[in-house]
Amino acid sequence: MLITNNLGYPRVGPFRELKKANEAYWAKKISAEELLQTAKEIREANWKTQKDAGIDLIPSNDFSFYDQVLDLSLTVGAIPARYASLLSKIDNNYSLDLYFAMARGFQQDGIDVTASEMTKWFDTNYHYMVPEFIKDQTFKLTSEKFLNEYNEAKAAGIETKPVIIGPITYLLIGKEKESGFERIDLIENLLPVYEQILSKLAEAGAKYIQIDEPYLALDIDAKTKALYTSVFARLNAAAGNAKLIATTYFEALKDNEDLALGLPVHALHLDLVRGENQLDTVLTKVPSTLTLSLGVVEGRNIWKNDYEKSLTKIQQAVDALGADRVWVGTSSSLLHVPFDLDSEKNEETLPAEVKNWLAFAKQKLAEVKDLAILADGEIDAATAQRYEANKAAAESRRTSPLIHKPEVKERVSNITDEDARRTSPFAARKTAQQAKFNLPAFATTTIGSFPQTKDVRKWRADLKKGIITQAEYDKAIAEETESTIRLQEELDIDVLVHGEFERNDMVEYFGEQLAGYAFTQYGWVQSYGSRCVKPPVIYGDVYRPADMTVRWSSYAQSLTNRPVKGMLTGPVTILQWSFVRNDQPRETTTYQIALAILDEVQALEKAGIKIIQIDEPAIREGLPLRKADQQNYLNWAVRSFRVSSSNVDDDTQIHTHMCYSEFNNVIKDIAAMDADVITIETSRSQMKLLNAFAGDFKYPNDIGPGVYDIHSPRVPSTDEMVDLLRKAKDVVPAAQLWVNPDCGLKTRAWPETKAALEAMVEAAKILRAE
Ligand code: GLN
Ligand code: ZN
Repeated sequence: MLITNNLGYPRVGPFRELKKANEAYWAKKISAEELLQTAKEIREANWKTQKDAGIDLIPSNDFSFYDQVLDLSLTVGAIPARYASLLSKIDNNYSLDLYFAMARGFQQDGIDVTASEMTKWFDTNYHYMVPEFIKDQTFKLTSEKFLNEYNEAKAAGIETKPVIIGPITYLLIGKEKESGFERIDLIENLLPVYEQILSKLAEAGAKYIQIDEPYLALDIDAKTKALYTSVFARLNAAAGNAKLIATTYFEALKDNEDLALGLPVHALHLDLVRGENQLDTVLTKVPSTLTLSLGVVEGRNIWKNDYEKSLTKIQQAVDALGADRVWVGTSSSLLHVPFDLDSEKNEETLPAEVKNWLAFAKQKLAEVKDLAILADGEIDAATAQRYEANKAAAESRRTSPLIHKPEVKERVSNITDEDARRTSPFAARKTAQQAKFNLPAFATTTIGSFPQTKDVRKWRADLKKGIITQAEYDKAIAEETESTIRLQEELDIDVLVHGEFERNDMVEYFGEQLAGYAFTQYGWVQSYGSRCVKPPVIYGDVYRPADMTVRWSSYAQSLTNRPVKGMLTGPVTILQWSFVRNDQPRETTTYQIALAILDEVQALEKAGIKIIQIDEPAIREGLPLRKADQQNYLNWAVRSFRVSSSNVDDDTQIHTHMCYSEFNNVIKDIAAMDADVITIETSRSQMKLLNAFAGDFKYPNDIGPGVYDIHSPRVPSTDEMVDLLRKAKDVVPAAQLWVNPDCGLKTRAWPETKAALEAMVEAAKILRAE
């Protein structure tokens, strides 16, 4: 029978037990012992689930209280100097205080240190804590978490495969905190610690050790390439009798194929979901000593595996290498999918037919095992039956009228260049819009949401539970909207918003009203630390059965003579923050969403809403990992935004909004979106981000650089904002500038919101007078 290999398992617990325990510990409601106990229970339950599912290579050290990269930084002693005052608390297992201080910052006992920076783990929605390196960085084994967890599993009767992020990837995902060195050159200092880790694991009896090197499947420079072979030779020597598995994921090996296949390791793991077509060439090159681990069951999405398709690949590998050199596995860690589909019981939001197309982490383990049995040829009756059921599910996805709406597909294939282009160029539109709105220079606006207070969230929860009626809920929302309009009038803001009080989340709110979407009850995945998200599921062709936002926007507009901005989420962001179909290109799904958003834009226009903002905060994060694929993505991402926003009158003003974006390499594409106004996050960088808009390439349309940071309750002074606006004016012509906060205000409280906006409007007036 083929060996089954799982790369990693979700650790938040089936019902977010770890999240709850972490937060209770932070709030000092439970003790460290209680938190450690919860963690232990989750680990043991995970190992047992995997063993019961028949997985041979079960990961350990994939557990983390907060983040596995932070765990590793603590393991190799990469602890930035600012945490030195907490160092005395380190012990051999974990110092929770130091650990959480690095994760979240620490303000206590006269100590005040900031948290580590956080960034996205490759192109996932998981965020890791960025390792910080200095020129004279030294490393030292400071935690034996990897060993403790291996031994803990062993004591529970389960042999595991410890997992560790490889040394090259670890250095590359970090950041140089001073100049004068390249972090990859720290490899010589780092390797001895890895050698210690591996020899300790081998001594403890580990048979296999998984070394994650996703960079082997990414664009790397010649210097890094040259390191891989010697680094793995040293790791391999240190590992003694333990067999190493070099593990890649999220992309195909491509130009690194020969390098990866030549590494001195027992096995190489390939992602055959993202790198679907790499097997043909790989199989011609596999050295006779190497085993291949085939990642056929997707770790990034929630669809049932297509057994027939996977078996073809497995068979191809078995024919070439023999059954003893082929493993069946998940494409990546299962960290990125929810725990258990069996917990989902709400047929209204997740119809039985749709549920039958899905597999969460626990179901994916069973798939890996099924595939190993099916590939083996000796198939028992129960497995044969599951194979038939799998084929039937795949067939129903190909044909179900729940998924396939010919009119939607046809509309997408009929999109023309004309549909993706405004009637007139920006200059003409600007004149038309100025005639219509007559806005002052340095026009003021906000990004959309106003404080989502406890009350607002309670109304929504009460409506869901049936404690209040729809009419009562609507009345409360209407009152909140009205008082927000009045406040903005009093503050003398130029372009108002309705406040988004009716929305839970900027993607879910639209998903709930679009056809083709389903929702889970417990489909949580870790985003960072204790924070989890529950992405909606796009299972079918997307269209808009009815108006989505017209009612509240029109109501708000009816209350005032000033323009009220309509508020929509853009097609790329809706796609990016959902679980997406895998039976058609992402591009096609995005165009479907774009047309649905266009329908809403036109409905708003008809209702007299002539300024409409289409938020695209996620456009940058959708960028493919490999450079060669990036421009193609940008082309369709930009075009789908244009499809959603072009078919409008010249005097309809389209805004877009983005936050947390590094615009430098993509500024031309951002400009190509051709929004009349773009509002961006720039305040934390003191307007430095704005340089991207005024370098060699001059951004042509209007820009609202955020003048204050909404992520902090701090109220900025008028002077500070005047300062920032002057800086902005130095790089962008005044006639192009708007004045606004750097993101929505929903996480803020009312008093600071009012004070900050008051100061902001005053700052705009000072600039106008100048
Ligand atoms: N319109 C949204 C809001 O104001 C935008 C949020 C975002 O950029 N993430 O909340
Ligand atoms: Zn934002």
